[in-house]
Amino acid sequence: MIKEPFDQMHEECGIFGVYGHPEAANLTYLGLYALQHRGQEASGIVTFDGQTFHEEKGTGLVSDIFSQERLSRLKGSAAIGHNRYSTAGGSRLENVQPIRVNYALGTLAMVHNGNLINADFLRDELEAYGAIFQSSMDSEVIVHLIAHSRQKRLSERIVESLSRVRGAYSLIFLSEEGMIGVRDPYGVRPLSLGKMNDGGYVLASETCTFDLIEAEFVRDIEPGEVVQITEKGITSFSPFLPTEAAHCVFEYVYFSRPDSNVFGRNVYEIRKRLGKELLQESAVDADLVIPVPDSGVPAALGYAEASKLPYDTGLIRNHYVGRTFIEPQQSIRHFGVKIKLNAIRGLLEGKRVIVVDDSLVRGTTSRKIVKMIRAAGAKEIHVRISSPPIVSPCFYGIDTPTRHELVAASHSVEEIRKYITADSLSYLSNEGMFRAVYNRPLGENTDFCTACFSEKYPIPFTGAEIRQLGLFSENVPSSEEA
Ligand code: AMP
Repeated sequence: MIKEPFDQMHEECGIFGVYGHPEAANLTYLGLYALQHRGQEASGIVTFDGQTFHEEKGTGLVSDIFSQERLSRLKGSAAIGHNRYSTAGGSRLENVQPIRVNYALGTLAMVHNGNLINADFLRDELEAYGAIFQSSMDSEVIVHLIAHSRQKRLSERIVESLSRVRGAYSLIFLSEEGMIGVRDPYGVRPLSLGKMNDGGYVLASETCTFDLIEAEFVRDIEPGEVVQITEKGITSFSPFLPTEAAHCVFEYVYFSRPDSNVFGRNVYEIRKRLGKELLQESAVDADLVIPVPDSGVPAALGYAEASKLPYDTGLIRNHYVGRTFIEPQQSIRHFGVKIKLNAIRGLLEGKRVIVVDDSLVRGTTSRKIVKMIRAAGAKEIHVRISSPPIVSPCFYGIDTPTRHELVAASHSVEEIRKYITADSLSYLSNEGMFRAVYNRPLGENTDFCTACFSEKYPIPFTGAEIRQLGLFSENVPSSEEA
């Protein structure tokens, strides 16, 4: 049988959990609804009612999957849930989280946001010992390691297992004993703790969920921290070797919702400052600043505010189309740009227009947008990108295409400008991005992962992984082994 490789290159996820609240399933439903932007292909909830675990999963949007009837079957005061986006093979129901298993200590359900680098290696090893994998998710490795562990307590098994995996993980576990939240030692993906006024705790990828369910934000789970929530309350410990944090800066640039506070900072404010910094670095004379909706809106506002140029809408987005990028096929994606956006001719005709977007990946969106604005009669089109060129893929849980498809990996800014047919094109510098994030001049240590912009991967790869992932193709150390 041909083994299906882990589809670990293409995962974006949102996770949520509630402990100690009678409406656990409904709250989780709302939490996942608020996290829909983090994954739109599949969703699932597992609850525990003190006796039995219940599970409902499906593919599609949260609001389509969970009917009143399905939610009413999810009994109990503890629940965890997951939104997922993935590509090849990923939409199969076995690949929808939470992962739920029976093992020596009872039942365990788990949700994972992030990406493991050494999952293939660990899976081969586990299979050699007889493990039978049910899915093609890299996350399944973690539950197998937990099941194989000889430790007596679940928390010890989790720690032992996670000390073997490398990569990015924010995790929530649900067992008969309680709920456990963990963040990898680098703190790549976010995970926050909240408290319900009427009792119970919540864990979530983003704080926008707390606003919706009226939970009070308590704090972020620390990098490398394990938080256990049981009937007795909360306990926490940090069992992993401390390391320099590497929070994903792309959460600020694009991925998180602007109304969330991520890694202790408000995303909207940072995005506005990204626009302001962009103006400082690449001002141009024009009549109008317009955003690429919705992702470019805060940066365009920041740019316009700082430049004193008028800001207007320019492009109208059809909100009933999903994010163009989060669709499984290239053919649909191309089509998606056209059905998603339309230009307002009356506003753009004869104008010199500055178009602000958060990022440029393949360049296909910008190219279509520039053509659309040009067709609407604009005299000049200046594209401004509120992040640096994306030169390298993410292996920690943001969906980016292969290096080959990243236009900035192999083309100069001028070549990209020509390709997208803009009159001018500027990106924000790395320094400008950090000035916006920190809101002060840049120091030495940034505690952020900028691998997609800098090729500096904070979590070390082995030689075998470098070859497998096609990284740094020019300087792969040929003799180095895993
Ligand atoms: P492209 O056409 O490939 O250059 O895509 C650029 C657009 O994709 C920008 O408007 C971004 O807002 C958006 N984008 C960037 N990264 C992602 C991602 N990981 N998932 C979905 N959309 C993204």
